[in-house]
Amino acid sequence: MGLDGGTVISRTDVLRGASWDLAQADASTSTRGGQLSSHRRHGASRALPPSVVRETRWRVCALSGAPLSPARGVVACALGRLYDRETALTHVLTRHGVFTSEEATYAYANRLNSSGAIGDASHLRARSDFFEVRLARAADATEETPEFECPATGARCGRSAVAFVALRPCGHVVSEKAAREAAKAAAVGGGGGGGGESESPPTPPTCPACEVPFDPAHSLPIHGTEAQVEKLRDAMDRRHAAEDDAKARRKGRREAKRRKRTTESESACG
Ligand SMILES: [Zn+2]
Repeated sequence: MGLDGGTVISRTDVLRGASWDLAQADASTSTRGGQLSSHRRHGASRALPPSVVRETRWRVCALSGAPLSPARGVVACALGRLYDRETALTHVLTRHGVFTSEEATYAYANRLNSSGAIGDASHLRARSDFFEVRLARAADATEETPEFECPATGARCGRSAVAFVALRPCGHVVSEKAAREAAKAAAVGGGGGGGGESESPPTPPTCPACEVPFDPAHSLPIHGTEAQVEKLRDAMDRRHAAEDDAKARRKGRREAKRRKRTTESESACG
């Protein structure tokens, strides 16, 4: 990589390579029809240090490997992974057979063909599987190397083991600590003191970024621990199974109605 010529490898270069490697490890990206350099091809088999994986996951779309941009829109899935909004929506549309673009179709096919994927996309079934999140950009971040932080504490996303959650319904991504402190403040300031007026409903905590009330029980851990992701996956699987049941019941009712109509019209004719 031309080091003798005095080339300085910037942090951006490292992250760009890492994001490509991560996307390959996730087996969820297209090559965009480009010719891969030998460096990149070999790079795919490189084991990435956990800190680089952690940092990169916070910067790139889990489907395309492209940098996340709050201006373009960022969504999170039920497992707490982050995606470019349009990429996620296109993925779901393509899954349902809607043609959006040739590139999107190839990208989708690539994702299907890649087996053993870490970040497989089979759980992205409908628009309802995403939830819009609002990421606070760090002051020194660029479009190419995005970096996000907690709007309350300034902790950088992915730089350390600090945990982050997306609050609902506003979607702000804040450190778990900031969310906990907001909940604590609400409990102290609200009806949680034990005494006071009887039957006063507890005051819900408010988002430290926009002051919209949020439900701590429904905060979504973003890039959470393995145990958190397993728990989220269980809840998601149960929800998907219930959706499938409801769909099957609706289909059964439609079929029964159609059969009844056919029988009626046949007996009317005969
Ligand atoms: Zn908010």
